[in-house]
Amino acid sequence: MSVTTSIHEATAADVSKAVQKAHEAFALYKATSPAQRVVFLKKIAEEINAIGDSLIAITQQETKLPEARLKGERTRTTNQIQLFAQLVQEGSWVRAIIDTGNPDRQPLPKPDIRQMQMPLGVVGVFGASNFPYAFSVAGGDTIAALAAGCPVVYKAHPGHPATSDLVAQAILKAAKDTGMPDGVFSMVQGGIEVGQSLVNHPLVKAIAFTGSFRGGKALYDTAAKREEPIPVYAEMGSVNPVFVLPGILKQKGKAVAESLATSNRLGAGQFCTNPGIVVLEQSAEADAFLDVYAASHKAAAGEPMLTETIYNQYNQSLQKLNMMADLKMIACGVKGDGAALAVPHTFVVDGKTFLQQPHLQEEVFGPASIHVLADSREQVLEIARALQGQLTASVWGADTDWEAFASLLTVLQEKAGRVIINGVPTGVEVGHAMVHGGPYPATTDSKTTSVGSQAIYRFTRPVCFQDFPAALLPAELKNENTGGILRMVNGVYTRENV
Ligand code: NAP
Repeated sequence: MSVTTSIHEATAADVSKAVQKAHEAFALYKATSPAQRVVFLKKIAEEINAIGDSLIAITQQETKLPEARLKGERTRTTNQIQLFAQLVQEGSWVRAIIDTGNPDRQPLPKPDIRQMQMPLGVVGVFGASNFPYAFSVAGGDTIAALAAGCPVVYKAHPGHPATSDLVAQAILKAAKDTGMPDGVFSMVQGGIEVGQSLVNHPLVKAIAFTGSFRGGKALYDTAAKREEPIPVYAEMGSVNPVFVLPGILKQKGKAVAESLATSNRLGAGQFCTNPGIVVLEQSAEADAFLDVYAASHKAAAGEPMLTETIYNQYNQSLQKLNMMADLKMIACGVKGDGAALAVPHTFVVDGKTFLQQPHLQEEVFGPASIHVLADSREQVLEIARALQGQLTASVWGADTDWEAFASLLTVLQEKAGRVIINGVPTGVEVGHAMVHGGPYPATTDSKTTSVGSQAIYRFTRPVCFQDFPAALLPAELKNENTGGILRMVNGVYTRENV
């Protein structure tokens, strides 16, 4: 199959129609039972698999990502859908809390108060360029919103329109076959105006986004200026600093260098968790580490990037770094034949310069890294304290390092959503405990995650039911716990009836 699908460029009127339909669907969709929603979610996964490998072929043409990577990403995406289906099926995710009343309490009777998480309403989702399945049409944002009971209007990324169209058709078929209301999901294709009108639509109640800082911040600002401001969960990437401590440098610095260089080049460096900054204390072992890292990058060939724009942005970032007098380029990979090939680069800077030039913390989206040589342990800590908010921070250390660098781990917990010991940041496990988020500017809301089951809470809010007769309460809050979910009753977690 070739990329011949005709892609409809939406207008503001199309966006408005999709949102209106989604809003009408909300009344019906939020009333569906968990079991009905589970069937819908599982059917989406089934329909994506049913497209078969023609989906992979189309995405390969559109993104230039290799077949094996795309097959792995498709599996990750359908597993992600199954994870949310299990969450909804188990049911405890609604966080039911019950404080029973006491009419005899003196001096005043105590009311009966119960709360649970309820869906927000229509969610607008902006997919990413670099994960055409897992962070795209049926990616984590869409599925978390649907699992929560929110209809979705999805703004497709222009980097893979035909892929988006095929996956959107799969969701629409799943919705129809499982009796979901018309409008529970729709997709719009188009440029900035389409995206802006989605964020500005008064019936949209939340936005999820993965992409550039520029794009995410623009959408956040638009949402904040609305008559009714709404939350924008923008995941905007980071430089994912890695600290390699003296003990491990002595023990196996060369192996760590190889691991990090490979991680930096993964997917042509087009990962929001790409390790872009490596901090080391100056030493002979640090020099040996740099030699191995640089040699690894020098031997590596350029790989195709997702889009021409991303390729141009990568080269502009490199040009800026190359013009800096205090920054030394120590490795440039093999150029290779072909268009838009991202050539790996390695730079070195001293700790003082890094601290004086905050722009060195800007994300370079591609296979490049800046290595910061600190003159002391104190300067390593100073660098950690000067870091902006990050999705991840990693520390490579040996047993002999942890006492001396205990405060580094404390500082990094304030800076990043995920702190990793002796591992690379690329590779985000999809599970219940994952945090793919972090303080600004990594995201616009550090209290949430965009990967894993806890992502569902971006699209819900707690609603409190005071003195409701049993018949009017949602099933999850009635005295009889028919679903056997875990609830907090008078301060104690239990699955028992009240
Ligand atoms: P992007 O430019 O931020 O675009 C992402 C989506 O947001 C696209 O659908 C885009 O629509 C839309 N958009 C951007 N600015 C907008 C605005 N002002 N108003 C309304 N909609 C807007 O991201 P990208 O195209 O994926 O890649 C560009 C750069 O983003 C990369 O070079 C890299 O720095 C970064 N990036 C980061 C991550 C991450 O994981 N954090 C992932 C991918 C890319 P249109 O394109 O149709 O205008």
